[in-house]
Amino acid sequence: MTSSFTISLDFELRWGIRDNPNEEAYAHAILGGRRAIPQMLRAFEDYGVAATWATVGFLFAETREDLLSHLPATLPDYANPHLSPYADVQNRVGQEEADDPLHFGLSLIRQIEGTPRQEIGSHSFSHFYCLEDGSTAEAFGADMAAAQNIARSKGITTQSLVLPRNQQSESHLIAAQRAGITVFRGHPKVAFYQPRARTDERPHWRALRLLDSAIPLTSTLATPTHDLTSDLINTPASRFLRPVRSTSSFLAKAQLRRIKSEMTEAARQGKNYHLWWHPHNFGCATEANMENLRAILRHFVSLRDSHGMQAMTMLDLAQNVSASKG
Ligand SMILES: [Zn+2]
Repeated sequence: MTSSFTISLDFELRWGIRDNPNEEAYAHAILGGRRAIPQMLRAFEDYGVAATWATVGFLFAETREDLLSHLPATLPDYANPHLSPYADVQNRVGQEEADDPLHFGLSLIRQIEGTPRQEIGSHSFSHFYCLEDGSTAEAFGADMAAAQNIARSKGITTQSLVLPRNQQSESHLIAAQRAGITVFRGHPKVAFYQPRARTDERPHWRALRLLDSAIPLTSTLATPTHDLTSDLINTPASRFLRPVRSTSSFLAKAQLRRIKSEMTEAARQGKNYHLWWHPHNFGCATEANMENLRAILRHFVSLRDSHGMQAMTMLDLAQNVSASKG
């Protein structure tokens, strides 16, 4: 099987971090992330790299009224009410992107759409948390229907899904399939990468993930598979691209070495290498993060030339799996 290289980005602006106690500190990174997106797009185009931009549905809204007119029929009823964004939708959202760049993103969606080999996917409508107490598959189905409606109102159909915090269960995946999704980003089959509700996370799992980004604790290479229960294609993540402060730091160098060697291994074994991050991860020290990214993209080009590795979006991968099934 031909090897492939996939990038997915969780594009969410403030909606992905609004329940974080340090959210004010993040506002700076979000605005920096907005400025980094055109630079990422230029690099993807320069190196012929495909990417899937899993976008929060709220970001498609042109105005506050547009957002309010697309709210789902059933809202999530989380046991922890701070997880729900709908109080912010009522109280904090401005009129449009020009006055509220933390909550609106249609101009960036249009730039992504206008760049070759870029796919607009879904990151749910409201940055929905599938495994938190009070979450139901019914509310998630309504959320995904709203995500599809607002995207369609802008001429975009989304088929690839990244679940917020990677929280997923079979009943949620079945609801996503009913809403028109064909492919999702799964997680590596290793205990410390298993998605969990936030309160079930343990510090040592985070530490193991950090360590694994620098030294090989486990192999996360995979091939996309057909998930029989949901009838979706699963394209598992290989690795989160951690932000760097400087390309010369010990951790940055160790991470780059690890990613490049995993990519080479995927190219040799005919597997997929799936890297992901958030645009706001490039919001601080943007130049160092872009330099790090360009080193990875150059490595992809060398593997494309030597091993025929192909750049694919999540949807391309899904179509390949479906075609090979006949
Ligand atoms: Zn997210």
